[in-house]
Amino acid sequence: MRKLFNCWFLGACVLVVCVCFTGCNRGAENVGFKDAEWASHGHDGYEQRYSELKGINVGTANELGLAWSFDGFTTRGQVRRGMEATPIMVGGVLYFTGTWSVVYAVDARTGELIWEYDPEVDGQWIRKTCCDAVNRGVAVRDGKVFVGTLDGYLDALDIKTGVRIWRQDTLIDRRRAYSITGAPRIAGDNIVIGNGGAELGVRGYVSAYNLQTGEMVWRFFTVPGDPKGEDEHIEITQARTTWSKDSRWDVGGGGTVWDSMVYDSKLDVLYIGVGNGSPWPSWLRSPGGGDNLYLSSIVALEAKTGKMVWHYQTTPADSWDYTATQHMILARLTINGEDRDIIMQAPKNGFFYVLDRVTGELLSAEKYTRVTWADRIDLETGRPVLTGIGNYQKEGKTIWPSTAGGHNWQPMAYNKDLGLVYIPMLELPMTFTSHQSVSFQQDSILVGANARPPRPGSPQAQGVFQNVLTAWDPVAQKAVWKSKPKSWWGGGVLATAGGIVIQGNAEGYLDVLNAKDGTVLKSIPTGVGIIAAPITYALDGEQYISVLTGFGGGIKRYLPGVAALKYENKPQLLTFKLGGVAVVLPEELEADTLNPVYTESNVSPEFVAEGRRVFMGNCGRCHAFRGAKNGYPNLWNMSENTYESFDAIVSEGALEYGGMPNFKDVLDEKQVLALKVFLAADQKASR
Ligand code: CA
Repeated sequence: MRKLFNCWFLGACVLVVCVCFTGCNRGAENVGFKDAEWASHGHDGYEQRYSELKGINVGTANELGLAWSFDGFTTRGQVRRGMEATPIMVGGVLYFTGTWSVVYAVDARTGELIWEYDPEVDGQWIRKTCCDAVNRGVAVRDGKVFVGTLDGYLDALDIKTGVRIWRQDTLIDRRRAYSITGAPRIAGDNIVIGNGGAELGVRGYVSAYNLQTGEMVWRFFTVPGDPKGEDEHIEITQARTTWSKDSRWDVGGGGTVWDSMVYDSKLDVLYIGVGNGSPWPSWLRSPGGGDNLYLSSIVALEAKTGKMVWHYQTTPADSWDYTATQHMILARLTINGEDRDIIMQAPKNGFFYVLDRVTGELLSAEKYTRVTWADRIDLETGRPVLTGIGNYQKEGKTIWPSTAGGHNWQPMAYNKDLGLVYIPMLELPMTFTSHQSVSFQQDSILVGANARPPRPGSPQAQGVFQNVLTAWDPVAQKAVWKSKPKSWWGGGVLATAGGIVIQGNAEGYLDVLNAKDGTVLKSIPTGVGIIAAPITYALDGEQYISVLTGFGGGIKRYLPGVAALKYENKPQLLTFKLGGVAVVLPEELEADTLNPVYTESNVSPEFVAEGRRVFMGNCGRCHAFRGAKNGYPNLWNMSENTYESFDAIVSEGALEYGGMPNFKDVLDEKQVLALKVFLAADQKASR
């Protein structure tokens, strides 16, 4: 019966049942019936996130419903964290990660769990992360599943059993705040992984390991280290000329490669997207000036050796957290009558770049969102023409885009038939103010600036804190259509030959849009904020769409999505097909009881201010939002129990397993008291 249903548009179904596996596997119009995998992070070697499947299409999208859901995730404690992984589907099995770098293998037809691998990351490691215990997925090759763990290991697992075959420590210094949240990428015979931590004072690099043995093959540093040591490779010596001698080597420089990489197998070249500087303001980081290579750059590396082929810096002397770590797509485009092998990216800084990926030549760059820090990109020099609005050294400035970028980590998709890139674009400014100085403190946020967005839902946020899915013509460098802003935060994107684009959002809807004009064909309520990118695959003549639900990541500190305020922020893998059923919404949250206001005896303004400093340096990256149960615990509404256990939680690690770290080694008794005093005073003021 299932076969009949799926063959309906061919007509003469009775006959078709018999020929489905032979006849339907051939011919472009019948691709919807062929078994089709999603074999690597970006679907294909080009990271286009575009599937040829067309069973689910403009005409049938309305029949989309739930086939099955998987919710057997290992979570820890009460905090429901973000789900950011792109699943891989090979051989009828889905491989994906949840929080805490745990890997799952489930039957792609039924959602039944086959195995689970928990690398048992120490909950304490959350102190070394900026943006939640998230993970963006695995790589699969040669009978192995590869995962980068939050605490900096690269693990190779047996694809059949999930048993670990080898493990490599990818960190150069385990005291520094390195973490891995990105998906490893396969480049030739190597598996490559970078890391995060540029907000916490680290020095960026990527490492390549042999797929079979796990032996390290090469390592490429993205920024110079302390000049007291030797430069590791020639590219570092070259980069050093773009840093002033008095640069803050102690803070690390930043330049982490925390998400995007793409491998061109024909050229045998790996492209890496490099992150922001540490600290953020260039005047604090490299006081004597300089572009600070290879921050905020796309760098092309020989996959075999790690030697640099070319580099292009999107934001010289970055002072705004304008990472170039965003999703990069390879394609062949006709530009000025010439076919070019190109690489394209919409990094945080607001410009959409098209470069020749053989030579690194900049072909074009235009604003895909509102940009005020630069007027345009000069194609002769390849450099931005600054407006002056971006300089907040002496006074605070409101600047577009924000530190969250015109586009963040959520993957784009490229429909090569329509020639359109779909950008999950964020319209948001932030007000930047510079600190006077920055001093290194282990595992602390060391950005050297404040950047404040308007609070979502506030009058200042009207028409700005919003996700707009933008269909971008990379040849003409202009938007063809923009979706209505339906949510303040949008998820990753999938495009298919069925003429559709699929994206979830923070309000908990999975939307299917017409790829040509952005018309919403179907909007599926799931009750859980979606930030991950959907994938599609086909088995036994059935096309499926899978997406992880669960709101979180770096954006969570500002506000849980509307869905997350109403329902339990439930981590699930939802898989849809034509003729499926409605998604069962998770349980509605009960309103928080208002806990008593606490007072502390020692409340001099200086002591409160000291508590605020302790909070900002150690707690603010998680606990800034006074929100719903799905968020990090609201310290402005502590229960009596929590208040009584405050010292045990902060200084004895009572909730360490769940990801509330032990701060005993950095905060003395007086500082913990100052923290309590600050929270009590602030709680009183906010009631
Ligand atoms: Ca950053």
